[in-house]
Amino acid sequence: MLRLSPTAINSFLWCHKQYWYRYIEKQPMITNASMGRGLYVHSMIEAYLKGESIDVPLPAIQQWDDKDYEWVMDTAQDILDIIKTMYIPVKFTELELSRPLNRNIEIVGKIDLILKNNIIVDFKVLEEMKDTRNPLQLSMYQFLFPEGQGWEYWHFTTQTYKVLSYLREEIESVDWRKVVDDIIKEVDFEKRKNKRWCKKYCSYYNLCIKGGANDLHSKGS
Ligand code: SF4
Repeated sequence: MLRLSPTAINSFLWCHKQYWYRYIEKQPMITNASMGRGLYVHSMIEAYLKGESIDVPLPAIQQWDDKDYEWVMDTAQDILDIIKTMYIPVKFTELELSRPLNRNIEIVGKIDLILKNNIIVDFKVLEEMKDTRNPLQLSMYQFLFPEGQGWEYWHFTTQTYKVLSYLREEIESVDWRKVVDDIIKEVDFEKRKNKRWCKKYCSYYNLCIKGGANDLHSKGS
């Protein structure tokens, strides 16, 4: 059975080739500086929510300098400050869910945080101002949760330190099933992203370059 998570679907949307490396060839991911920042902030928040010390070990990251470290500490502190001011007791965290979409596909997902009043929270650790709305991911969470319980969906984002709220109606129209269909049909997995963010954000940048994507990157970055 094929197991698909919101991360897998987002990877496919970001770049078909990246999806191929990660989920079909199962190439090991190299944690770059950008990913490392996100991982570190998430582990600090998780430790806090579990009542543990937030002094978590730094991940082993290549190319991480003092500026990165400073950014991570500030960002994590900002998110923790927001959480502390919410005064809503946590119901549970890091919940892993799965639900069959059909006989061949299972949708899986991990929720960052659930607050009382059926509020589902997802943290986004962003370094640059981009479109921070991600209704696709939340729409998939909606599929994973039982119907009829009035869930509300939030994204915490850094950079703006905003809490973006999504209501069920707002995300119901997002057609992630169409993306699942494309993955199943094995559309052009060679299709690559032609964007300047490859080097900074893709774990497979070096592999991709060796595989002949130089033409893309020489134009893009
Ligand atoms: S380096 Fe760029 S083109 Fe290559 S797999 Fe990653 S995102 Fe896709």
